[in-house]
Amino acid sequence: MNNSFHKDTVILGLIGKPISHSYSPLIYNITIELKKLDCIYLPFEVTEKQLKNAINGMIAYNIKGLNITIPYKESVTKYLDGLSEEASIIGAVNTISNIAGKLIGFNTDTHGIYESLLPYALQLSNKSVTLLGAGGASRAVIYTLIKYFNPSSISIINRTAQKGEELCNYFTDKMGYHSISSHSFNDSAIRDSLNSSALIINATPIGMYPGNADLHPLMETYSFTNEQIVFDLIYNPHMTRLLTKASKEGAEIISGLKMLICQAAKSFEIWTGEIMPVEDVFKSVKYMLIE
Ligand code: NAP
Repeated sequence: MNNSFHKDTVILGLIGKPISHSYSPLIYNITIELKKLDCIYLPFEVTEKQLKNAINGMIAYNIKGLNITIPYKESVTKYLDGLSEEASIIGAVNTISNIAGKLIGFNTDTHGIYESLLPYALQLSNKSVTLLGAGGASRAVIYTLIKYFNPSSISIINRTAQKGEELCNYFTDKMGYHSISSHSFNDSAIRDSLNSSALIINATPIGMYPGNADLHPLMETYSFTNEQIVFDLIYNPHMTRLLTKASKEGAEIISGLKMLICQAAKSFEIWTGEIMPVEDVFKSVKYMLIE
């Protein structure tokens, strides 16, 4: 660990509440150590009331970059000087860069999703997708699918049907994409959608350590096929119950860990111009997770 920080040390960090569960300090500080950079990445737990001051503090303290996590990814946009194209369309920011005193917001979750799906791009082109969840991560998923993967249709399954419908209207309006529909969380809607989908994505916390790790976001009676790809955005555990089942039944599986590391790699590049050693960081972080 570098103990010789000085006034030119590049300060990076994370703002959210709560943040004790976050793997970001681990990911960035491993990277800084591996690359022997004069940087430090710090977690800052900030209340809603202090959010504006905390963001302005980036200028006062010359903080080069911050990640933004739950619950501020949307509310932080009003304190910024500008947004990248993807952040502006999605309406949420997970990365702020202090560029010569101007605070610009980015959404690098899209890059993590893009890198996770890229090996399957040909297999996915012009195919249907089922997406479980209609929260912030789902917005980044929908943007990335429409922009880069040419889906024939996207079917959102969400507990609160109204939120799914709002998302459909939002992306039809923002990206001119009409083949998007929303269904409530009931067995027959899910089954119909799954049967016709080449890609199934879980963007809910069902299956996540610690509270939800024993849960499965779909009915256990559904069997996957070896022509389907199942992508779980959850990264802890690395192998969720959903992925374990899908893998046993012959489907291709993608864990959220690659997305987690790749979104961080993009943020790091935006802030420092440096390339993260993704494979090495992946191995180190995987070692720390529940299997
Ligand atoms: P969010 O904005 O809070 O949205 C959560 C979504 O899950 C909502 O649609 C919610 O439905 C649904 N949901 C929550 N609990 C549920 C339950 N018990 N039963 C059914 N549906 C439920 O969260 P988010 O930011 O989109 O994150 C979603 C997941 O993605 C989390 O597990 C997060 O860890 C993961 N994620 C991973 C990465 C990565 O880098 N790998 C990045 C971002 C997020 P309602 O609309 O009905 O509330």
